[in-house]
Amino acid sequence: MELGLDPRQEDARSTAARLGRTLLAPDAARFDRDGGYPIDTLRALGREGLLGINIPKAYGGRAAGVVAYVAAVRELAAHCAATTVGMMVTNMVAEAIAKYGDDAQKDAYLRPITAGQWPAAGFSLSEPGSGSDAASLRTTAVRDGDHYVLDGTKAWVTSGGYAGVYLVMARTDPEQRSRGISAFLVEPETPGFEVARAEEKLGQHASATTQLVFDGCRVPAANRLGPEGIGFKIAMNSLDGGRVGVSAQAIGVATAAAAAATRHLAGQMDDLAADHADRQRELADCATEIDAAWLLCLRAAALKDAGKPLTREAAMSKLFCTEMAHRVCERALRIFGADGISGAHPIERYLRDVRVTRIYEGTSEVQRIVIARETLRLMARQA
Ligand SMILES: Cc1cc2nc3c(=O)[nH]c(=O)nc-3n(C[C@H](O)[C@H](O)[C@H](O)COP(=O)(O)OP(=O)(O)OC[C@H]3O[C@@H](n4cnc5c(N)ncnc54)[C@H](O)[C@@H]3O)c2cc1C
Repeated sequence: MELGLDPRQEDARSTAARLGRTLLAPDAARFDRDGGYPIDTLRALGREGLLGINIPKAYGGRAAGVVAYVAAVRELAAHCAATTVGMMVTNMVAEAIAKYGDDAQKDAYLRPITAGQWPAAGFSLSEPGSGSDAASLRTTAVRDGDHYVLDGTKAWVTSGGYAGVYLVMARTDPEQRSRGISAFLVEPETPGFEVARAEEKLGQHASATTQLVFDGCRVPAANRLGPEGIGFKIAMNSLDGGRVGVSAQAIGVATAAAAAATRHLAGQMDDLAADHADRQRELADCATEIDAAWLLCLRAAALKDAGKPLTREAAMSKLFCTEMAHRVCERALRIFGADGISGAHPIERYLRDVRVTRIYEGTSEVQRIVIARETLRLMARQA
């Protein structure tokens, strides 16, 4: 596995680093305090090729691959994790359209995403009462001539109310469980589609998270993504890649927190090496764990770039990176003492923002279930 970045990957990373510094950083505290949604920033990320990093150039993407994607996510998240999650979900939806869409769907939906015409695309799998057990979702899609009629309520949709298109998973066959689910590309102007409750959250305030309500929402059959019955497969495939992105997002926040704590300590001590053995241990553990996490993230990204299965490695990466990032942010806050919980420093925002990375795209408990299942399968194959 190559550990350095090639020129294409480095270009995505350095572009993200520049935009993180110039666009995300100046607004991060304000959005965290006042709420709102960084429409202009997300559109700018699109114009700079960061909403279609792994999308073919023919559709306006960068075609730079998954390692480039995680390198860019890490840079952006170090400045504002909340803006970054909108960018991540948009890349995830774009990849699903590029992989499963027909030519008309790619033409209609990929170009506005990669050009930054839309600030975001949305991914809608979760429902009230079906998060971890996503296959039990209850939103229905009933065929009616050349349309499907969607009814139901979806929950926790990132960029709800701002996305130009939503990838929605709904049940087309009530007799089947995961194989009875299909995927649809739903435009927000469709009659019967409504953005409902906006969630108030612990962190990531610059990311809108809403319910979506479908009430007799007539979606053209031409907007079904892939054949009937493969919606759950599309969702799980998307989440494998999404989990690698969340890993990088968590590492970005942890890197920022560790850097802030290191600067803080350096300002307090004349000779960091000679004194404060306990502080040295904290810094050493942060630095080592961040690098270990990055290696797991890179391995999963490289597997995806190589077109190889990554379910187990993506789950390992997400579990380790997000748990690590929470530990690092907690340590950084401890190093700051009372200042750590004051709004004068970004440390408390890092801790609030990073917490949810252990929940979305599958909780840590769910990642452990996936890792155990895939490890048992692997051993059975090797026996
Ligand atoms: C900010 C935010 C943004 C989100 N964005 C999106 C989005 O864009 N699109 C989307 O579709 N969803 C989104 N989600 C939803 C997210 O994916 C779910 O919240 C997540 O999958 C967990 O589901 P849940 O909240 O229903 O928790 P539950 O499934 O109810 O779980 C509750 C607790 O029980 C544990 N648990 C559940 N099952 C098991 C088990 N079998 N064994 C052990 N423990 C278990 C969980 O780990 C958790 O601790 C978002 C969530 C948040 C908070």
